Amino acid sequence: MKYVGAHVSVSGGVENAPLNAQAIGAKSFALFTKNQRQWHAKPLTESSVVAFRENLDKSGIKSEHVLPHDSYLINLGHPEPEGLEKSRTAFLDEMQRCELLGLSLLNFHPGATLRKISEEDSLQLVADSINQVLQQTQGVTAVIENTAGQGSTLGYRFEHLAAIIHGVEDKTRVGVCLDTCHTFVAGYDMRTEESCENTFAEFDRVVGFSYLCGMHLNDSKPDLGARVDRHHSLGQGKLGWEVFRYIMHDKRFDDIPLVLETIDNSLWPDEIAALYAI
Ligand SMILES: [Zn+2]
Ligand SMILES: [Zn+2]
Repeated sequence: MKYVGAHVSVSGGVENAPLNAQAIGAKSFALFTKNQRQWHAKPLTESSVVAFRENLDKSGIKSEHVLPHDSYLINLGHPEPEGLEKSRTAFLDEMQRCELLGLSLLNFHPGATLRKISEEDSLQLVADSINQVLQQTQGVTAVIENTAGQGSTLGYRFEHLAAIIHGVEDKTRVGVCLDTCHTFVAGYDMRTEESCENTFAEFDRVVGFSYLCGMHLNDSKPDLGARVDRHHSLGQGKLGWEVFRYIMHDKRFDDIPLVLETIDNSLWPDEIAALYAI
């Protein structure tokens, strides 16, 4: 069974996200549990948490098919102590928000070296950050998203994801989310069935499908290997439909959230329907 959804709005409160997802025919969704461009946020209110859980129930979407996304400011591989500490504190808060909402996954971008330390050292800091936060929380898995490799960001090679997982002590609470746009612009081709076969075989060899907790389904404005992060609507970018056909037909992508982050949210109902029609 496939669980396709989209990264929905939390305008008016997190409790609106399940209803927004239901309204577009989603069977999974992503959300920000706080403003993704600010460091600080008010704690979730009791009434907001209760309403979220009730609305999730009403929507028929299971908590394990909700894939919250953390703030873009957080850098768990930050080269400087102050920035690292700030990021770890903010990430702990994000994990605790997920705990409160009864959610089991938190999707995040690994971080960036800021060209001040090696990728290897920065990846180790990310693993250390995850270890610290997992020790202070329960029931939420840290889900590392692969990246486009823009600037000095980590996570554009499958080997980076594997290195972080290697450094995490509790392997039952670490996973990965593959973003199709990021994968493609990072240099992994998926435009044909054969290239999908090769790319996902490489992913399985380097990371392992057992760690796959979710997917972001996006077409790409930039071309293969451009290392620039610009999503596009399905079928309108350089990636094309084949990879989405491949994913919808392959059992290795069953039972995990498959979340659209495509640029035109008015198309989401059609994109979800088109994926299910495959
Ligand atoms: Zn992301
Ligand atoms: Zn993504």
